[in-house]
Formats: sequence, structure tokens, C-alpha cells
Amino acid sequence: MINETLQKLLIVDESENNRIAIKNILQDEYEFVEAASIEEAINTIERCTIDVVLADLKFISQLKDNDKILQIPLIAMVDSSDVDAGAIAIESGAFEVIAKPLNQTLVSYRIHNVIKHFKDAESVQILKDKQIIEMHKYVEMDALTGLINRETFYKRAAALMQVNIETKYYIIYFDISCFKAINDLFHIETGNLILRTAANYFRTVIDPKVGLCSRIEADHFIICVPQDKIDIEKLIIGLDVTVQALGIGHNILFYAGIYPVNNPSLPVDQMCDRANMALRKIKGNYMNRYAYYDAGMRELMLQDQMIVRDMETALQENQFSIFLQPIYDIKRNTINSAEALVRWFHPINGMISPGKFIPVFERNGFIVKTDRFVWEEVCKFIQRQREETGEVTPVSVNVSRLNFYNLDLLEFLLGLLERYELESWMLKLEITESAYMDNSHQLMSIIKVFREEGFPVLMDDFGSGYSSLNMLKNLPVDVLKVDMAFVRELEESERAYMILKFIMNLAKDLGMDVIVEGVETKKQLDYLVHLGADKIQGYYFSKPLPVPEFKKLLKENKICK
Ligand code: C2E
Ligand code: CA
Ligand code: CA
Repeated sequence: MINETLQKLLIVDESENNRIAIKNILQDEYEFVEAASIEEAINTIERCTIDVVLADLKFISQLKDNDKILQIPLIAMVDSSDVDAGAIAIESGAFEVIAKPLNQTLVSYRIHNVIKHFKDAESVQILKDKQIIEMHKYVEMDALTGLINRETFYKRAAALMQVNIETKYYIIYFDISCFKAINDLFHIETGNLILRTAANYFRTVIDPKVGLCSRIEADHFIICVPQDKIDIEKLIIGLDVTVQALGIGHNILFYAGIYPVNNPSLPVDQMCDRANMALRKIKGNYMNRYAYYDAGMRELMLQDQMIVRDMETALQENQFSIFLQPIYDIKRNTINSAEALVRWFHPINGMISPGKFIPVFERNGFIVKTDRFVWEEVCKFIQRQREETGEVTPVSVNVSRLNFYNLDLLEFLLGLLERYELESWMLKLEITESAYMDNSHQLMSIIKVFREEGFPVLMDDFGSGYSSLNMLKNLPVDVLKVDMAFVRELEESERAYMILKFIMNLAKDLGMDVIVEGVETKKQLDYLVHLGADKIQGYYFSKPLPVPEFKKLLKENKICK
């Protein structure tokens, strides 16, 4: 009976005696199969699994032509009297050579070694294949969450939409609010846990047969799903609940920007950009957790691109200039001061409003250069005005929060005063309320230094953000500029009136001045007078004016209303 575990050795030799001799030498180490011709040998190789072939030299090259032999170790038997035979055998493709007459021990060892070597090589190949598969996975996957990565998403989403050309898809871009803060406040593992939990959630709600989900970077996820297979409201609530269930105790909110795909041939990265554009519109807004892309957003994006492209040239070519809006002291009936507001006169697009370019500059950091330009223009104006009239009207300038990251901020301001021979009370610094929230400790100490140097500090847009009234007590500011929204609501809302009244009283108790901005009508002004407001800025009195016009107004120095 043949032992099942024995390896099969094929002996290819015309001489039966030779074949018998081999069988005698190896005896029961192998299961033997014999062939007396090349045809017989090939036939056998193709029919059954052979572990090793021992063939007379004359068959080697023919055997080597057969594809199957590539995976089987081939040993040539050569005549020991022929000195070249060994080399010829190896050249012809034999893996090993044994000499006739056969030496029992040597033959046995050689065959063993050859088989072992082949097995090892085979396992190395299997390992390599496995590694290649793993590598492919690695290249396609995000290691943290196991979701597919950005490139894979782009490829697969394009393929998915191409195959299901009739299906209407959404590309949805997700982002977590304050994720950076979570990473800072807690351990990085907490952040990772949130990301993995979100990934698992996506995996369970998006049927992989119809949709895709991916983590494309940091805390940004993207999904591609048929529109009729998803309820966005439910999806976001489910996501919030799942992540909140981790009990991290921080308000972790997901926001989503949605691009309904109406042109499946658009590159997927551009679809994602559009979804991201929609997302940017609502990020940080507690009420709106998702938004849809519309064509207007694309216009905005193109406009932003134009702004970024042209900003440096604009500064070099003097396309920026300052306008001054008077701030009136209605009790004294004079112009108390002015606010400098930047204007951009673009050679092709005409005047661009700061509402359009300031947010872009704040995102890309160019605001620091712009602000410094404005401050210098203001200093030039004050200096010239003093030379011409002998009088000084203080001007307040906007100091965007990004300036506070520059260590030479104070030095720069003091340098300006020196260059234009001004004093610090002439240049007032407006810092928007939200900046106090961002970076309160550091900011407070910088503001303290400004005030010690004699710069009046104004808190701009007060009441527009989240600052509590209690916080006011600790704020080292000289003036509150009440946000326009209050004035707008004054006529309709009793509440706005009450809050404003409270603010005015509180400011008075704390020894702060109040400027009310955005006053457009006589009625609003009357309310404000009733509340005791005395410093007013708004269209009712004057819009921001080009410097020559402002000078003219100063000369007349009267309230025309
Ligand atoms: P802001 O600092 O709150 O400036 C007041 C804005 O309100 C100005 O808009 C001004 O023209 C406008 N305004 C004044 N009175 C009225 C009114 O009665 N009704 C209405 N509806 N609006 C009024 P502007 O010049 O378009 O500037 C918008 C914002 O852009 C500014 O708000 C400020 O945040 C920013 N900005 C403008 N110039 C600069 C600058 O040089 N540097 C920085 N960092 N920001 C600037
Ligand atoms: Ca301002
Ligand atoms: Ca303001």
C-alpha cells in the first residue's frame, strides 16, 4: 500500500535498470512514478502532482519546455565520466545534478535538499503575495479607521457612479466641530476613539453594496450614497448620539456639506470640494448642521480664488486705500473720532467690499499685512491733518486677531508713532469680540500692555458673539462698540431695548465708553438718545468717506441732521 504522505518522485530514464537502481537506493523514502520517454514523462507531469523529477540529462531541456515543470524541482542525472555534463545540465535548466553511478547517501541528501529549498522558496513567494495584498489594502485604507482613504474613494466613487448611471447620488462631507480642541483637552486616543466610532457608524449605516464611506484626512469623512437611500437628518442625529454615547462629556458635533451629484462625469475630487464648500458655510453654526451646495457657492469660491491671486499685487500697486467713517459725539455736537475701513479698488473688478476679502485674508493670514498698511495710512492721515489744521482727530483701526500671533505687534505700532511723531491716544485699537473668546488669557495681557502704552482699546461688535455680560467686569477695555444687530432690532424688539439699556448702565458703572454703530434712522437715534447713548457711528450721519471728503467734513465740523 502506498503511503499517502510520501512525496512523489518521477524518474525519467530510458533504462529500466537505471530506474530500478534509483528505486533501490531511495527505497521507501518516496512514492515512485516512472517514465521511459519524454512523452511519458510529460504526460505524467500533466496528470498528477509530482514533487520532484529525476531525469537523465538527455531529457532535461525538453522537460524544461513544459510549463508545469517550472514549479517542480528538476534534478539531472549525468554520467560522471563526462566532465562537461554537469554544466550542460544546469544550463539546460536543471536545479541540481547527480552523477551516475549513483552514490546512495549523496543522492538521498541532494534530493532532500532540493525539495526543501523549493518548499522554502514557495513559502517565501506565498508570503510575498500576501504582503502585496496587504500593501494594496494599506495603500487603499486608512489605518486608523479601516475605511478607504481619499484616493481610493475618488476612484471607487467615480466607478460606482459610472456603473449606476441612472442613480442619483449625494457626496456628503463631514467634519467635527472643535476636533482640535478635543485632541488638546483630552488624550490623542480620545480623538482616535471618536474617529473610529464615527467610522463604525458610517460602516453600519452605509450599505457597502450601494455606497461608500471614507476618512479622507484628520476628522473629515466623506460618503457617497444614492439619494433615495439616505435620510440626512437621521444620519446626523444618529452620528451625534453614537459619539455622545462614548461619554466624553464635550459637545462633539458633526457638520455635513452635501453635493447632490447632477453631473456624474465631474471629477470626484471636485464633487468633494463642492460638498466642502457647502460645509464651510455652516461650520460652527449650532442651528444648521448641514447645508446643500448651490451654484452660488462656486461663484464665491472663484471670487475667493481671484482675491487670493491678486492680493499681493494689490498691495504693491496701491489698490488698497482707507475710508474714514465719522463717529459723532451727539451731546457735544462734534465729530469725536473716526473709524478707518479698508477699501480695495481692483483694476478690473472695481471696488471690492471688505465683507468679501477680509474673511479670505483672515483665513490665509494676509490680513496682517493689510492691517499694517491701514494703520500706516491712518498715521499719515493724522500727521498731515495736524500739520494742516493743528488739530488731531483720533482714528480707530481694526486689529484682526491674527496680529496677536506676531511678537512684534507692539513694536510695530510704537514704530509707527515714532515715524509719524504721533502719540498713542491718537490711534485707537478695535478688537472684535470673538477674538476675546479665542485666546482670552494671552489677549488680555497684550491688551493690558497696549493700554499701559496709552492706546485706547475698543471692543468691536460687542454682543454679536457669545461673551457673557459678566465677563465685561474683567475686560481691560476702554470702549464698547455695540454691535449693529442691536440697533436693527431696537424698533421691533423690546428685549433688544432692555439688553442695550443694561449694557449702557453696566458700561457706565465700569467706567467704559459706549459707541453705538449702524445707526441708520432718526427713530433709532431717538431710542438711543433716550437710553443715554452719546457716541454714534452710522449711515444716518455719514457713510465711510474717502480721506479728502472726510477732511472736508472735519472742516465743517457740524452735524448736518
Ligand atoms: P466693522 O469693523 O464692524 O466696521 C463697521 C462696518 O459697518 C463697516 O463696513 C461700515 O461701513 C459699516 N457701517 C457703518 N455704519 C453703518 C450703518 O449705518 N449701516 C450699515 N448697514 N453698515 C454700516 P465695511 O467697511 O464694509 O467693513 C466691514 C467689516 O470689514 C468691518 O466691520 C471689519 O470687520 C472689516 N474691516 C474693514 N476694514 C478693515 C481693516 O482695515 N482691517 C480689518 N481687520 N478689518 C476690516
Ligand atoms: Ca470695527
Ligand atoms: Ca463693528
